[in-house]
Amino acid sequence: MKKGDTTCPRCGAGFRRLELSSKQGTEGEYHCPVCDTPLEVFDGHALVIYRLTIQPSIGTLKA
Ligand SMILES: [Zn+2]
Repeated sequence: MKKGDTTCPRCGAGFRRLELSSKQGTEGEYHCPVCDTPLEVFDGHALVIYRLTIQPSIGTLKA
């Protein structure tokens, strides 16, 4: 299992990223739940889980 931390480049939200290479994932994209910026494209070779750990401050949310 791989663990890592990712930060959304647009709004600054922080995520804990877990990759379970022993499990099959699904193809698709993960978008930041705060600002909808695509953070990663999944090819389905592993199960990837994102968990929001740091809420961005409201002041940084500008279009
Ligand atoms: Zn974001």
